[in-house]
Amino acid sequence: MKAIHIPRLTHAPERTETLEFKEPIKGLETLTPVQGTITITHQGNYLEVSAQAEAIVTLTCHRCLQQFNYRLSVSPSEMIWLNDAADPTEELPLDHDLTLDDLMESLPPNGYFNPEKWLYEQLCLEIPQRQLCSQSCQGIEVENKNAHITDRRWASLNALKGHLPS
Ligand SMILES: [Zn+2]
Repeated sequence: MKAIHIPRLTHAPERTETLEFKEPIKGLETLTPVQGTITITHQGNYLEVSAQAEAIVTLTCHRCLQQFNYRLSVSPSEMIWLNDAADPTEELPLDHDLTLDDLMESLPPNGYFNPEKWLYEQLCLEIPQRQLCSQSCQGIEVENKNAHITDRRWASLNALKGHLPS
């Protein structure tokens, strides 16, 4: 996917560009190409971006460690401020308190919008934290749960187990 030169959008019909895609996304391991559409509208001082995208990803069940396929489907939308001070290469400042401005996405008005990077972030956010092959997954059968703990670094973790909400 090609990056979009932001000023060019102001000459597009209705200041909008819509891309259809069906391709792998860099950095994201998917079983099928990521497929969908993305619409970017130049709204003067911000870009309005919305998309619909899906792909099949292979996840590993947190309970039984079996791999399973999962349909990742997103329909995100976001406003990205056009701000001269925005430097896309700048990392978030971690040594002082973040302000709301730091957390808002922004791009320089004469810069580029990278649809692939944006989609990558949206899809990553949608990968479930809790990965289960099925709600009824029984996990790995262990006869005596404490018997196989030989590494004492895991012992304190194991002690916690009973106290965490399942
Ligand atoms: Zn499982």
